[in-house]
Amino acid sequence: MKCSDCESKLDRYVDRELNNTEALQVQLHLEGCPDCMDHYDFESKVKRLVKHSCECDTPPAFREKLRQLLS
Ligand SMILES: [Zn+2]
Repeated sequence: MKCSDCESKLDRYVDRELNNTEALQVQLHLEGCPDCMDHYDFESKVKRLVKHSCECDTPPAFREKLRQLLS
């Protein structure tokens, strides 16, 4: 696998949307390629941050209910 192939699949790899064969190919490439591993690290951190901020962002109706309970 070339770096360009790896990068094009990295996004779906992080999201675990690749099939087993593709995921294995990406994984093997990452293990032998520090550049792409850096990329992967970055992508997965960004995804975690995005996921985290979504979980914190409670729906307005729920926040309103919470506010009434607390007041
Ligand atoms: Zn690479």
